[in-house]
Amino acid sequence: MAPHHEPPSTLLPAQKFDAPWPRYMHPYACFECRKSFKRLGVTEPVLPCPHCGGPSVGLTRKFKPPKQSDVKQWRKVEALVRHGFLFWDLGEPYPSDLTGVDGFAAKHAEHLREQRYRFSNAFEKIDAAMAKRSQSA
Ligand SMILES: [Zn+2]
Repeated sequence: MAPHHEPPSTLLPAQKFDAPWPRYMHPYACFECRKSFKRLGVTEPVLPCPHCGGPSVGLTRKFKPPKQSDVKQWRKVEALVRHGFLFWDLGEPYPSDLTGVDGFAAKHAEHLREQRYRFSNAFEKIDAAMAKRSQSA
């Protein structure tokens, strides 16, 4: 069967929601595999990881995945995502290691509140995925 080049434009209104990232190629991160993969124009905040089937979280293009072997950096990224950071441009660098994450989150608490309010549907799914992960860990 020839692949259709039409994007899936038949989403029911109930399936649509504001996504906290623009609709272009953006990375998803799996904290179980410490891998990221990219999807085009997908507005789902959480997708199954193609490697392990677990939840992977959609981030902005600002996200630069650490090396798979760099467990510490992946733990930092996971901590940021648990706080609600999806790697928007905040006009300053993100913390360089895990110890900087809590302070960074405190500093940007207002921003996080706004994003969580604005994209509450997406954060509901992201938080659920992260909660599920912490139970299985
Ligand atoms: Zn995975």
